[in-house]
Amino acid sequence: MTSASGFAQDIIARQAPSDKRLKDIRNVKLNNTAVISADLNNPAANIYTDWTDNLRSCSGSVPANYKIDLRGFCMPTPSRKINSPFGPRWGRQHEGMDIKVYIGDTIRAAFDGKVRICKYNGGGYGYYIVIRHPNGLETLYGHLSKQIVKKDQIVRAGEPIGLGGNTGRSNGSHLHFETRMLGKPINPALMFDFVNQDVTGDYFVLNEGVSKGAVAAATRSTKRIKTENAQKETAMAAASNEKVPAPTTTNANQNSPAQQPQKQEEPISYSVKAGDTLYSIARKYGTTVDQLRKLNGLKNNAVLKRGQVIRCS
Ligand SMILES: [Zn+2]
Repeated sequence: MTSASGFAQDIIARQAPSDKRLKDIRNVKLNNTAVISADLNNPAANIYTDWTDNLRSCSGSVPANYKIDLRGFCMPTPSRKINSPFGPRWGRQHEGMDIKVYIGDTIRAAFDGKVRICKYNGGGYGYYIVIRHPNGLETLYGHLSKQIVKKDQIVRAGEPIGLGGNTGRSNGSHLHFETRMLGKPINPALMFDFVNQDVTGDYFVLNEGVSKGAVAAATRSTKRIKTENAQKETAMAAASNEKVPAPTTTNANQNSPAQQPQKQEEPISYSVKAGDTLYSIARKYGTTVDQLRKLNGLKNNAVLKRGQVIRCS
């Protein structure tokens, strides 16, 4: 990376989407492997050691406090309507976010990358695409009506990759969007703010502290949902776009690197502790600072007090 720093700098400059980001770019350390791996033929080779067409089997390891570079992003769709968030749903984990799109709407690559999977799964994702990106993330786009890229194709951020649809286990056209690291799902809302059509920051840091607490919380939520009755599940299904899946046993949520306490059907409240900021609370609950402000009627300059109860969903 150091010998390529001039090149990396060019790439960073080219990808800077607006002036507000230039300040951060001047401060960036080019020897940070998370910045840009220019090699799109072998994206994120610093993390992944294999290239298969199996969604979950990704070998490699994530360095501690890994910084995912979100600059150079493109929102996969201009739609701002979220039909269903990431998190426990119908007694199991919904591993992505559902965004309303119509059949035929253009779906775009979220970052530069290389198409790892381009398949059809009739009982699940329908026509779907998985792209591996130099920042270490993989993005998945499901229920497409058409795939317009091929496996192993290099794509650029914003390039059309498919058309919105309703294929697979889906009731009503929508985009099922996932963000994964080493085959494990991370809540896309931690990085992509569809309502504001922006990323949540220039970087998202995966750290162990976040993942440990989050896995425990996610497990608790799943248990609670499992005790709910079938009637409620049917009602939830009717309100969402994806069909109630047959009950399955999965331990996928036991070992995800950064699963977060998720939005539930009922509101979640949080009591402010010393050192908390709206930003840290938003990250913890997979939402955004804007959303927290809206939910709690907070002004931009509002100061959090210890013990103050904040609604998080
Ligand atoms: Zn979905």
